[in-house]
Order: sequence, then structure tokens, then C-alpha cells
Amino acid sequence: MTSKLHPFALHHFIDGNKVASESGRFGDIFDPATGGVSKRAPLASADEVRKAITAADAALSDWSRTPPAQRAQVLFAYRDLIRRHVEELAEIVSSEHGKTLVDAKGSVTRGLEVVEFACGIPQLLKGEYSAAVANGVDTYSVRQPVGVCAGITPFNFPAMVPMWMFPVAIACGNTFVLKPSEKVPSCSLRLAELMQQAGLPDGVLNVVIGDKEAVDTLLTDPRVAAVSFVGSTAVGEYIYATGCAHGKRVQALCGAKNHMVVMPDADLDQAVDAAMGSAYGSAGERCMAISVLVAVGDDTADQLIERLAPRVKQLKIGPYTDTSAEMGPLVTPQHLDKVRAYIDLGVEEGAVPVVDGRDTVVAGHESGAFLGGCLFDHVKPAMRIYQEEIFGPVLGIVRADNYEQALRLVNEHEYGNGAAIFTRDGDCARDFTTSAKIGMIGVNVPIPVPVAYHSFGGWKRSLFGDQYMHGPEGVRFYTRLKTVTARWPSGIKDGAVFHFKAGGEH
Ligand code: NAD
Repeated sequence: MTSKLHPFALHHFIDGNKVASESGRFGDIFDPATGGVSKRAPLASADEVRKAITAADAALSDWSRTPPAQRAQVLFAYRDLIRRHVEELAEIVSSEHGKTLVDAKGSVTRGLEVVEFACGIPQLLKGEYSAAVANGVDTYSVRQPVGVCAGITPFNFPAMVPMWMFPVAIACGNTFVLKPSEKVPSCSLRLAELMQQAGLPDGVLNVVIGDKEAVDTLLTDPRVAAVSFVGSTAVGEYIYATGCAHGKRVQALCGAKNHMVVMPDADLDQAVDAAMGSAYGSAGERCMAISVLVAVGDDTADQLIERLAPRVKQLKIGPYTDTSAEMGPLVTPQHLDKVRAYIDLGVEEGAVPVVDGRDTVVAGHESGAFLGGCLFDHVKPAMRIYQEEIFGPVLGIVRADNYEQALRLVNEHEYGNGAAIFTRDGDCARDFTTSAKIGMIGVNVPIPVPVAYHSFGGWKRSLFGDQYMHGPEGVRFYTRLKTVTARWPSGIKDGAVFHFKAGGEH
């Protein structure tokens, strides 16, 4: 098998084995800090994806019948393995994504928390029981696994986002085919190997690396029952429509443009710290990044800029191997071009570039995908840099006259993933949490990513489908409700009954 592997090509992980790709198609994996190609990602053919689905389908019967407490034992072992491999996994994430090691480690830990949540699956799958719904008749409901599930994940969280999905799906008794982003696939392969080491039977978790061909195969194969997607809105909308048209349950978590409203009474130092971390952490490549700062009142805007501008200029930018770096490069040279084009556009549209990071060069890494932090003032709702997701270290300040105008901006934007308000006024904060058409809200908290035992998801065009990921909604997504009504006493004889009975009348 190994003789078929190209020197730099990764493999798939199917039915517990490393499988060399035979499709003959490859994508480039970059070292973002040098801009060079470091590995090649095999792009699976439809046949290769079908092999992974076949493995998942074959493993389903045994795994779905394995008692939940026994399934949980695998997750307990997995938890220990992940804890022991946090550094290694973080390094894999950083080497392909570019984010700083400390940030990568944090994201692995957030994934680990979902594994810990999934360890409690026997408790989470407990059904409901009603004794004596009628004479000698009991009713109970149980949640059963949906079947073979697929996960399609984005480049920005190579460990955490896959771990939002497969630990919960597998704990619920499903089998899984993971199709990670072809830009950062190595972490998914390692996560699957560690699952095998934790005792997961072969075929329960499979990883195929690929592009649209792989995704389309997952969306149309009748053996796939449910699809979880995280990525951009254009692709998510397609995945939702295509998956649903093929009878699948689909949850598609998509793009974002998260607003942070700063009221005049806010603790501005706290707000500035929050804006720095959430706008520029991970080079802005986070679906929960703050990309719009809505300053209520010109005085608030001026004071924020006075504090923000020097800090954005002084951001320490470098490769992940530089442990003093606060911000790494963008994921690929292509993504750098895209983000730079948005900055050019912002200037053309008339926004005021208070800090312009386009000329940033990191010594020794001149070809790396580095971009300095950018800060625009006087961003207007009609501008494309306001309307569209840039997914880079670009923060735009929109000036609002009052709270009502700020809230309107939040609510009229097409995305509804996250939003934050900074204020000392409880009434105002309460109104914001009640009125904002947003899935996840922070009050004096910049990136309100819910912990694993709550659920993650947005509103409006940030999510297609009904159920969020992990937490109780994740368990609902990966299970189906079954209700059983049973009568056991042998002494009761109704004879044949041809009419519908009222509850309790048996
Ligand atoms: P993307 O949509 O380009 O890719 C996501 C996945 O879809 C990848 O696995 C990719 O291979 C696949 N894909 C890409 N084009 C496809 C096509 N035409 N047909 C079928 N499949 C296709 O997203 P990305 O650039 O990898 O990630 C960034 C995006 O993800 C941003 O929009 C970000 O906001 C979003 N995101 C959202 C969340 C959330 O929870 N809402 C979390 C993380 C990232």
C-alpha cells in the first residue's frame, strides 16, 4: 500500500486503514508562513468516497447496537489520548493553518470539551416513560442513531470543527465519514488514528480528503442519512438544498459578519482588549471573529480609535514557530490575495484606512501569506466591505447615532452568527439579548462561543437547518425519536376495535 503513496501525498483513512488515493487528482497544502507547498492533498474520486460509505454502512449494525455505556468507554479513552496529544495536534493545526500555537492549542481543547460532553451519552440518550397511559398500556420514547453520517468541515478549525461533529455522532451510535477541508486535512487523519487507538471498531470513523466530487457523492449516496457542514454560506446553501433534496437531514453552519456594539457607557479599555483579540486573533479567520465594531456616538468612536490604532499597528506578526507572535499568516497565498482585494475595495468605497496592514513583511518569511492588521473607520452599510465576510484581520468601524440604530444594523445584516454588546447598562444589554436576531450573543464578552454542553449555531444566513452543533441540539441532530406503546397483561381482551380511541381508553 505505502509504495503507491506520493512522497508528499496524504492518504485517506477508510475502514481502519491508511488508503493511498488512486484518483490521480491532488490539491496543494501550503506552509502559510513560507507560502510554499508542503504536502499534497489527494482529492477523492466518487468511488473512493463510496468505499468509505460502504465501510461506515457495514460497521453500523454492530456499533449502533453497542450499549451506550460501552460506546462511552471508547470516548473516555479518546479523551485521555487527546489530552496526551494536545501539543502534537496543535502543531499539526498550526503548520497547515498558520495560527499561533497557543491559539491552536485552545482550539484542540475546545474540541476535547465536546469529547467530554459525548462521554456522558448514556445520560443524554435517556428516554421518557409514561406508565399506564391506558389500562395495562405503557408508552416510552427512545432516541436511536440516524445511521451513516457525513461531516464536511472548513479550513479555519482543523481540529475543533470536526470534533464538534464525530464524537457526538459516534457516541449516539452512528458511523461517520469525515471530509475535512483539503487545505488542512492532516489533523483529521490524526484524530481518526487516535480514535482507533482508543478502541473504536474499524469503519465507524472514516476520513476521505476531497473537494466537490467527494462532497457531491456524500450528498447523493442513499446510504448517508445525515450531513453536518461548516463553511461558507454559498457552499452551505448548496449543501443544504442538495442534501435535503436527497432525503437527508442536514445542518449547515455558515458565514458570519459579527458586530460588536460599544455603548458610550462601556468600559472602553475592556472593549478595546476584546476587539483586539476577537478581530485579529487567528488573523480574523474565525466565524466568531468580530469584524464590525459599531461605536455608538462619535465620541465613543474617536476614543476607541485612539486606543485601538496603536495596538493594531503594534500587533506582533510571525510564524507559529515564533512563540511571541500574536497573529500568524493567512491560510494560503490565494486567501491573502482575496483579503487584500477587500482592503483595496474598502479604500475605493471610501472607508478611511486608519491602519493599513497591506505592506507588512515578516523578515525571513518574505513569501509567507502575512498581512498586518487593518482598521477602517467610517464604514457604511452600503459598502461591500460591510456586507460581505472578509475572513481576515480587517476590522471596520461603523458609527451609529444611538442604540436603536446600532441594533438595526445588527438585525438588518444578512448574517446572524454572533454579536456582542459592551455596556454597563443592564436594561440596554437585556434589550439587546432579547431583540438581536443573532444565534450567539455576548454581553461584555467578545467571542461568545458556547461551551460544549450548550449548542453552537447562528440565525439568518449563518445557518441552514434547524439544529445546532454539540450540546443537546447535537444529540437531537444525530438521533431520531421512536415512541413505543406496549401492552403486556395477558388478561385484557378488547376484541377487534375499529374506531380511534381517546387517550386512556383501552
Ligand atoms: P468553504 O465553504 O470554502 O469550504 C468548506 C467545505 O466545503 C470544505 O470541506 C470544502 O472542501 C467544501 N467545498 C468547498 N467548495 C465546495 C463546493 N463548490 N461544493 C461542495 N463542497 C465544497 O469554507 P472555508 O473557506 O473552508 O471556511 C471558511 C468559512 O467557514 C467562512 O465562511 C466561515 O465563516 C465559515 N465557518 C463557519 C462556522 C460556523 O460555525 N458558522 C465555523 C467555522 C467556519
